[in-house]
Amino acid sequence: MQVSLRASQSRTRLLQTRSLLRIGGTRAFGIGPGHYKQRLVILGSGWGGYGLLRGIDKDEWDVTVVSPNTYFNFTPLLASTAVGTLEFRTAVEPVRRYAPKINYYQAWCDDVDLKNKVLTCMPATRPPNAEPTGDGTVVKHHNPNGEPFHIRYDKLVVAVGAYSQTFNIPGVKEHAHFLKDVRDARRIRSRILECFEQANQPFLSDIERRNLLHFCIVGGGPTGVEFAAELHDLLHTDILRHYDKSLTRLAKISLYDVAPNILGMFDQNLRKYTEKTFSREGISLLTSHNVDKVEAGKLFVKEQGEVPFGMLVWSTGLAPNPLVQSLQGVKKDPKTSSIITDDHLNMIMEDGQANEDVWVIGDASKIEDAPLPATAQVASQKAKYLVKKLNRIVNDVEHKKPFEFHNQGSLAYIGNWKAIYDRTGTGAGEDGFMSKETGKMAWLLWRSAYFTMTLSWRNKILVPVYWFMNCM
Ligand SMILES: Cc1cc2nc3c(=O)[nH]c(=O)nc-3n(C[C@H](O)[C@H](O)[C@H](O)COP(=O)(O)OP(=O)(O)OC[C@H]3O[C@@H](n4cnc5c(N)ncnc54)[C@H](O)[C@@H]3O)c2cc1C
Repeated sequence: MQVSLRASQSRTRLLQTRSLLRIGGTRAFGIGPGHYKQRLVILGSGWGGYGLLRGIDKDEWDVTVVSPNTYFNFTPLLASTAVGTLEFRTAVEPVRRYAPKINYYQAWCDDVDLKNKVLTCMPATRPPNAEPTGDGTVVKHHNPNGEPFHIRYDKLVVAVGAYSQTFNIPGVKEHAHFLKDVRDARRIRSRILECFEQANQPFLSDIERRNLLHFCIVGGGPTGVEFAAELHDLLHTDILRHYDKSLTRLAKISLYDVAPNILGMFDQNLRKYTEKTFSREGISLLTSHNVDKVEAGKLFVKEQGEVPFGMLVWSTGLAPNPLVQSLQGVKKDPKTSSIITDDHLNMIMEDGQANEDVWVIGDASKIEDAPLPATAQVASQKAKYLVKKLNRIVNDVEHKKPFEFHNQGSLAYIGNWKAIYDRTGTGAGEDGFMSKETGKMAWLLWRSAYFTMTLSWRNKILVPVYWFMNCM
């Protein structure tokens, strides 16, 4: 097995170095290239895992990343890629950018033996003897033909994120699109265009066309709202240019939420502003609506009955990652099942003791008594904190400072070059300078925030280029 071979090679190197030092009989100035590096394993390549990978000292740590995704997803730009405002490549960064300095396995971690510090992983690639498909399909849990393998760690960072919540509503997993990954965005973009091409067939009735061009979104959080806004832009720009008016006038967007308001975490005035903007733009807001069931091309809504759709996007929050769910002996949040950490982000065990060798960051974690929202902002700040901590620890330097979150506010794009920006509750003060912003000004802030957060130089160039091309 590759992993055990590597471990034994590194042990051999260590022994060779030690014996060389002894044979030489003189004191060496350094311990040479074979010195034992502590094994740091990072689970996940999202905002938490990739953020840590970027900053960690790869010369001091023996870093291994395990993730089913060979790339990092820049999630705030996924809605833009799903409608073609941006190209897919602008929303990803490859993990292998850091190889060969690091080891990477495209795999799922299925089990963590916290006592013996061993991980059980399952390849996320198709078995080597399977027919190639060429689409780089990630194999979902559990690949029946896969061979599990084991990795030892000295220090472990769990950054496996969360899954999409479906509330076990029948038919959601089978018939809805999720928007968590660039692959989802690709499927959504294909489906939107397919709906228009299907609706354009000459033998369809207007009712059939209307049903195909009904785009439903369930979940009025920032992801659902931003997707509705981006889709609205697409329907009123490129689609309007390339399809007949008799077809485009039949297209409709409906946004459902069980709550009485969308964007529950935003300031009330910003919510109202968004609702007004949406109703002006013809997006149907169906709050206090309960979806009971989904079938192919049909939603069953308690308040409306059967609702036909051409495409359904589902975004109703987070469900725990199966790995997090399966971990035993660990303290978890009773509501969300996230792993509880202390303010140094160490995992807390059921007996209340912090596990000094394991940290948990991002959507999979919650700091005890100081819950923070499940956002990229929190995950990347936690990753930066761990970079500092681990880069000190590896050099035997103490790091005693607890994690502190610096809230930079929340932004959401609401379509037609408008956004909302909420900085209330960040210390800016309810009526402080720019504590709330709407419209074009907030849109400029939204674009500059995501441009600043874009990670690689390639994407720092590509993103504004695509934005510019869309204005033409
Ligand atoms: C469409 C969308 C838009 C968003 N927009 C914003 C925004 O504008 N601002 C904001 O602050 N937040 C935003 N968020 C939220 C933000 O993306 C998440 O909070 C953030 O991704 C959490 O980071 P994470 O590292 O915990 O998890 P993720 O980024 O989800 O990464 C988890 C990683 O773990 C891997 N993984 C999963 N299971 C395993 C396993 N068993 N073993 C190994 N690896 C595993 C996954 O493949 C992935 O690489 C958005 C989310 C979405 C979906």
